[in-house]
Amino acid sequence: MKVLVRSVQHDLYGVVGRPARHSLSPAMMRAAFSTLGIDACYLALEADDFGDALDVLERFGFRGLSVTVPFKQDAFTVCGRVDTSARSIGAVNTLRRTESGWEGRNTDWLGAVRALERVASLRGASALVIGAGGAARGVVYGLLERGAQVLVVNRTDHRARDLAEAFGCGWVPLSELALCRPNIVVHATRAGMSGTPYDFTIPEGFFSPHMVVMDIVYSPLETPLLYRAKVAGARVVDGLEMLLYQGVEQLSWWLNRPAPESAMREALRRAAALAVRKVFHE
Ligand code: NAP
Repeated sequence: MKVLVRSVQHDLYGVVGRPARHSLSPAMMRAAFSTLGIDACYLALEADDFGDALDVLERFGFRGLSVTVPFKQDAFTVCGRVDTSARSIGAVNTLRRTESGWEGRNTDWLGAVRALERVASLRGASALVIGAGGAARGVVYGLLERGAQVLVVNRTDHRARDLAEAFGCGWVPLSELALCRPNIVVHATRAGMSGTPYDFTIPEGFFSPHMVVMDIVYSPLETPLLYRAKVAGARVVDGLEMLLYQGVEQLSWWLNRPAPESAMREALRRAAALAVRKVFHE
């Protein structure tokens, strides 16, 4: 990993991933630091190997890191201390440097529940989570934490069953999706992301006006799944809201003070719109 920092006078933060250069987090975090009047630098750090990258970043004195795909499990293993949620989910997306080493947290689940809680009450709600990968684990954990009843469905049935067993919730085979009548649907697979096809079909008439439907994919902002839910009259939440709240939680943990939510939302929405325009002109 190459890091070029001429003079390290600012507090350093960044997002580490592969890829990382298209991340919207720098726009969101820089807006937050600027609103708070903090002289800090937040960089997108693309790495081949997480351990090597961390060695370099430690030497530069980085204070906090957002960790994204594919390094969330690696980040878990380097931490001297992790919180209960990160331990249950098995992944860390936020690192904070302390005198005794790196501390880790998972804020993805908080991002998901805070995005949903703006429009729905989760306690006692019946929630369907589509997906059984890393992000789905966080979403399932969060919904259960908030007292929802959770069912998992996935392209590969046995992975839905394994996830459900790990968290003590229910699951349904994909072939029985049409029988589910949830109040809340969260799509948490990579399908729909920049043209990735859906290897599952949402049955006709599945979405309804009494549902809240969140897609955690945010590129594009209105995924085909979210569009169908909106047309059916469901209340929809796009993936930028989860990204916003996981970032709000990261920043307030690093700084030990409230994060400027509306400045961060504005910067994120602006950066997402610019990213779409860039793709359109390429
Ligand atoms: P991941 O581990 O690669 O996701 C694997 C999941 O996606 C599995 O359930 C897999 O099904 C399913 N899947 C993959 N391709 C599929 C397809 N073509 N059709 C149907 N299902 C498919 O990735 P992840 O880390 O969980 O992330 C999932 C998505 O969430 C990504 O788009 C990521 O950008 C997004 N995300 C958003 C936020 C946010 O803040 N908004 C945060 C984290 C992640 P099988 O088990 O059958 O393989």
